[in-house]
Amino acid sequence: MLTSASVSRRLLGRLRDVMAGGGSAQERLNNVVKLIAADMVAEVCSCYVMRAGEVLELFATEGLQQGAVHQTRLRVGEGLIGDIAAHARPLALADAQSHPNFAYRPETGEEIFHSLMGVPIIRGGRVIGVLAVQNRTRRHYQDEEVETLETVAMVLAELVAGGELIRREELLPIDGLAVLPLRMEGVRLNAGLGMGTAVLHQPRIAVQKFVAEDPNAELERLRRALGEMHLKLKELFSSADLAEGGEHVDIFETYRMFAEDAGWISKISEAIRTGLTAEAAVQKVHDDTRLRMNQVIDPYIRERLHDLEDLANRLLQHLTGDGGTAAERDLPDDVVLVCRSMGPTELLDYDRQRLRGLVFEEGSPTMHVAIVARALDLPVVGRVKDVLSKIETGDLVIVDGDNQQVFIRPGDDVQEAFATALVARQAKKASYAALRDEPAVTLDGQHVTLMLNAGLLVDLQHLKDMGADGIGLYRTEIPFMARPSLPDVPAQTMLYRKIIDQAEGKPVVFRTLDVGGDKLLPYWNADGEDNPALGWRSIRITLDRPAVMRHQLRALIRAAEGRELRIMFPMIAEVAELDKARALLDQEVERERQRGGAVGEIKVGTMLEVPALAWQFEQLLKRVDFVSIGSNDLSQFMFAVDRTNPRLAERYDVLSPGMLRFISYLVSSCRNADVPVSVCGEMAGRPLEAMVLLALGVRTLSMSAPSIGPVKCMLRSLDLPPLERYLDTLLDLPDHSLREKLKSYAIDHGVVI
Ligand code: PEP
Ligand code: MG
Repeated sequence: MLTSASVSRRLLGRLRDVMAGGGSAQERLNNVVKLIAADMVAEVCSCYVMRAGEVLELFATEGLQQGAVHQTRLRVGEGLIGDIAAHARPLALADAQSHPNFAYRPETGEEIFHSLMGVPIIRGGRVIGVLAVQNRTRRHYQDEEVETLETVAMVLAELVAGGELIRREELLPIDGLAVLPLRMEGVRLNAGLGMGTAVLHQPRIAVQKFVAEDPNAELERLRRALGEMHLKLKELFSSADLAEGGEHVDIFETYRMFAEDAGWISKISEAIRTGLTAEAAVQKVHDDTRLRMNQVIDPYIRERLHDLEDLANRLLQHLTGDGGTAAERDLPDDVVLVCRSMGPTELLDYDRQRLRGLVFEEGSPTMHVAIVARALDLPVVGRVKDVLSKIETGDLVIVDGDNQQVFIRPGDDVQEAFATALVARQAKKASYAALRDEPAVTLDGQHVTLMLNAGLLVDLQHLKDMGADGIGLYRTEIPFMARPSLPDVPAQTMLYRKIIDQAEGKPVVFRTLDVGGDKLLPYWNADGEDNPALGWRSIRITLDRPAVMRHQLRALIRAAEGRELRIMFPMIAEVAELDKARALLDQEVERERQRGGAVGEIKVGTMLEVPALAWQFEQLLKRVDFVSIGSNDLSQFMFAVDRTNPRLAERYDVLSPGMLRFISYLVSSCRNADVPVSVCGEMAGRPLEAMVLLALGVRTLSMSAPSIGPVKCMLRSLDLPPLERYLDTLLDLPDHSLREKLKSYAIDHGVVI
């Protein structure tokens, strides 16, 4: 007796010959359904293909009326075929017509067939069609037969998705949300507009060969690939760069759990025995699991799906020798990168000239890749839920960072609107560029110092392009984050020297390492904190690990080579912390002097991010040369609101009376003590907010490069005294926010915001 595996192998062999044979795709499909019907001893075999608008169209049949081909159409969910597509699961019914979902289509002549077995045709986790067989008798299909049909459907998916039967763009996502063009909302991680071709950062590995001659050889290939994958994973996770314990251990455990899961491996082996190649078997099992797990709502389980996906991808890499990220491949001229999330270096691997925007499934505005993207002036929309299952490589995508939305496969009207918006944006940019050499002076003659927030060497170029006065905040953690291990003193010295050199005499404020919270170093994590924003981060880490701080200070002193140096300590919550940090600096200055090195003037400042410090402000101001208000963290702590939580993003406003009164107090205290003060949080780079900061007495603003133009434009149209008087009348109001009033003021008084 023939076993189901040998039936399936024989059928797959024939199927391969038909699919590789000549003729049009339609002719091949016609031959395929004939072949399946004969092989599975069914009177009918039909193939339905998903068309735009969630419609399943009969594309080929053996046994039903030929006149119904391309005529019979069922919506997803309609009839048994629609049911199979809607739930992405097989159906095997001895008496199909008595099923409540049975939908009779007279043109097919199917009333004489009683039993039905159908399976979804799946590709890339999406249902793209349904394959069904029918028999006159009330046949009880066996589980093995269902499996055989599933395997056949997998091979057939290649023909359906090949682009010859229907345009590839017509293949719809499984949840049916996308009817071709699709608009999805997310969170703005960086403003701006960009259009390009979707490139998946981690491309799904395309299985090329589906049918294998020799299952034993394939099982051996699987065994070898699993072994290689284990070794590689072990190597990866035991690398010397990784500290003991921590998050990666959990990740490894999860990986190991899946990788050693006998169920997972035996499912793959079974699929190989039915005639699939090892890679096709991995893909099949993965597609099945993905579809099942996609229906699960539990976020923990869904998260595990990502792990499983990574693992299947790794195994495919070992089997096909394919791999790496899209950065290593030929890229289109205009690229919109799409991924779950990525590290800053991964982004820098791409050719900047081709990048037009980024779309993430995850992400927060302060994540490192967002900060890097800001430096590169790329629009970024994050937290676009499930975007990876709705986008394919090659789709046209518009990233609208300004309005926190993404258009996938946009129609002509949206593309036109985009083109108009882009022209307007470019005109604006040109007008900002024209302002480059104009002074940053308000209408009433107040000079404003405009500085850059930086963290990458590319930012130094912006210093020239934007005509900024210096770097008001150099986030030293960014180069730290972009490395596989902690850079040593010579490496840091070299980097800081480059920055000082390239600034060509303009001041650079180096902020000491500000990691933790959501800025994690891959090799150095605080594990499992409940409240990372309030956790072991920033100055708390570097005071607890004084060697790290001392190495950094040593490198900064050496890099300055006797030139003026500005050092700023982040997250200072009390004067005692500043004193401790300063003592470390003094030790390093002494060390350098003893070594005979040149030490020039060193200006020391702190960030003001923790409200508690304001209650020791007088003492603080006696000890520092400057203060910079970090409004991002300051508002987080003022309002007790996690700055990475999108649910709370709009809840409180920096333009609220409370926040502004607080800033006003800080600024006037600094002025009275003759200590320069700046603002370097995101607030400083937004024209309306910057306008208000100027009215509160701030004269130095530090912001990302793309904000310099709009802020300069604003301040050159601003007459401060009347605004100061108006603001005075607002600060005592009980309002939630003063935004609307201040916006109206700006519009009424011709301030360009
Ligand atoms: C801030 O908190 O405002 C700030 C500038 O620091 P960062 O955004 O790097 O935390
Ligand atoms: Mg901060």
